[in-house]
Amino acid sequence: MLKHSDETPPPSWEEERDRIIGLGERSFRKSYYPELRDKLSQLERFRALLDFSGELVILFALPDGRIVDANTPAERMFAPQGRSLLDLRLADIDCGGFEELLAQINDDAATGETKLRHREFQLHHDGHAIALDIDYRVAEVRGTSYGVLLGRDAAPRLAAEARVRLAARIIARSNEGIVITDAERRIIEVNAAFTKITGYTRDDAVGRNPSFLSSGRQNAEFYRTMWDSIHGTGFWQGEIWNRRKSGECYPEWLSVSAIRDDTGTTCHYVGTFSDITEAKAAEARIRHMAHHDFLTGLPNRFLLTDRFQQVLASAQRNGKRFALLFIDLDRFKNVNDTLGHTIGDQLLRDVAGRLLSVVRATDTISRQGGDEFIVLLSDIDTPDDAAQAARKLMQLLAEPFSLGEHSITVTPSIGIAVSPEDGEDLDSLLKHADLAMYDAKQQGRNNYQFFRREMNARSLELLLMESDLRQALKKREFVLHYQPQIDLGSGEVLNLEALLRWRHPERGLVPPGDFIPMAEETGLIVAIGEWVLAEACRQVAVWRSNGWPALRVAVNLSAAQFRQRDLHVQIANALVASNLPADALEVEVTESILMNDAESTVDTLRALDAMGIRIAIDDFGTGYSSLAYLKRFPVDTLKVDRSFVHNIGVSDEDAAICSAVIGLAHSLHLEVVAEGVETQEQYEWLARAGCHYVQGYLTGRPNDAASCLPRRN
Ligand code: C2E
Ligand code: MG
Ligand code: MG
Repeated sequence: MLKHSDETPPPSWEEERDRIIGLGERSFRKSYYPELRDKLSQLERFRALLDFSGELVILFALPDGRIVDANTPAERMFAPQGRSLLDLRLADIDCGGFEELLAQINDDAATGETKLRHREFQLHHDGHAIALDIDYRVAEVRGTSYGVLLGRDAAPRLAAEARVRLAARIIARSNEGIVITDAERRIIEVNAAFTKITGYTRDDAVGRNPSFLSSGRQNAEFYRTMWDSIHGTGFWQGEIWNRRKSGECYPEWLSVSAIRDDTGTTCHYVGTFSDITEAKAAEARIRHMAHHDFLTGLPNRFLLTDRFQQVLASAQRNGKRFALLFIDLDRFKNVNDTLGHTIGDQLLRDVAGRLLSVVRATDTISRQGGDEFIVLLSDIDTPDDAAQAARKLMQLLAEPFSLGEHSITVTPSIGIAVSPEDGEDLDSLLKHADLAMYDAKQQGRNNYQFFRREMNARSLELLLMESDLRQALKKREFVLHYQPQIDLGSGEVLNLEALLRWRHPERGLVPPGDFIPMAEETGLIVAIGEWVLAEACRQVAVWRSNGWPALRVAVNLSAAQFRQRDLHVQIANALVASNLPADALEVEVTESILMNDAESTVDTLRALDAMGIRIAIDDFGTGYSSLAYLKRFPVDTLKVDRSFVHNIGVSDEDAAICSAVIGLAHSLHLEVVAEGVETQEQYEWLARAGCHYVQGYLTGRPNDAASCLPRRN
């Protein structure tokens, strides 16, 4: 405390207070007045408040901006090294812009304006750039206007603002539509994606309830459940159909969240959604692909199974019947083989289209792969309804299909199984319809057959036959019969066709038609064919050395044998084993083998030709007679099918075919054999027509080796 000197009288209390306020903190302790000291301690408490308020506080005089007081943080922030703010004016503070601030406050003081103003300032402090938020205003103190400046670090505010800006940008740029409502579900904000998806602009939407988007496809119950969930858990998500401004309905995946304030009261709702039209379309495509055949678009086995369950359930409920039709296209393979897979595929698609056009919407047509189709006829009264459907299908397919430049007719073989009589599950119905279809094939194709119980027996028979065939080969139960081919010019036997028989211990002599298809199906034909070749060669070698030196044997080959790459080696071995020249052997192949234009077939036939083995086309005229292969393959002989020969003298058309084939053979320098000659009339007709050889019951039935040749004296 200062001692007061006598020369100068002490200042009045008010003077002293004003002086101290004017001088600031350092003067407090030097006061003359003890009462003032008490007050000072109060001022100190006040200072403490100011110093620790977290604000920078400066009080300055107007109009010059002389700093009257400042709290400690303000000193630290603004005072230049080694100086106090109390020695400075506001304009001295290196903060770029305090003059302007002062001018503003002077204006305010002049106009009596006391509102708090705000500015942001940048300054350097301790080598850092700092942003400050400065609030300032005019303060009246006992009739005098001062300026008050309050400042603080702007960083937290700026960071918060940056966060808000970022959030806003994210909302704006989001690919998901976003809609924000207040607690009363009035839209307060939407983003660009919202507009893009719904077609409604921000102006269209703000202020409205989001229900204006609803398509009407969800009922009130749906929305009630949705809002129950939002109110209960604060969240809901799911698929929903809404309507665009254009009127179009679309599916969206929507999430709705309730936003709560600090007190836990819901203040906003936020909905985010994405248009899932594309995703749903893709999903539908994938589902379609999984359930449909890629080629025809018909339901596949998977979907058929599904539909079957529905049809079965409804039939059982209503005590009704239903039927399964198994359709196999006859000789479809020939189309593929001759015209190629592209045409084959197109044909299957066209067939599918026609099948679809006859059945009812409740029926299902499915492709099982290849040329097999299944028709599931729901709800029929009698089996005859199924027969009628089969007839309709056959009629429909009878019209030729035009594929590019080709006009093709396909016929179906149809097997029918009716439920409940023929089974009550898909597997047994399929099996039974399949057996019936097989029967339709056996009946000459292009017809339909119902499943009959004895067909089961037949399939069992086939199974037994397969194992029997294996046994037969082991037990040497196969024999060859031979049928002569007679030279029409000389009447001589030049060639014998080897025809296979099975000497069955119980069934007697089984003709090849009864077991060769089975042997082909099981692949046993390969082993059997190998035996036939060896045996025929052995036998003809015997004859050759017994007075028939020029005799030839003709051996039938099946398609399965051509699938072996080394067939020609096998044949060569058979010749060598019997010490025969190549011209002692002729192989008979069918048109379908040639049409199955596999490289291996071409290679094998060329190799046989190169060895000098003769090649005959069997049953000529019955396949898809494409004459191209006559040029492509090294053919020596045509064998006119016996069905044409049979009708010589009966049908002019068949006779015309016979003479055409004979003419063709002549012009291509091939030999021609007529098969199945049974009458003298046929014989003479063929002789006149220029046929080279005949083979038939008239000139010799197939017989065992001992009795098939005329005696030679
Ligand atoms: P394919 O090669 O056309 O044989 C001619 C068939 O016509 C033989 O029937 C024969 O007995 C019969 N046939 C001969 N002349 C007459 C006649 O004047 N009238 C009538 N109605 N029929 C006559 P088969 O022996 O029952 O043979 C049937 C088919 O079995 C053969 O037809 C041939 O494709 C096949 N085949 C026979 N043996 C073999 C063989 O060893 N291997 C293979 N892969 N197939 C064989
Ligand atoms: Mg033959
Ligand atoms: Mg034949």
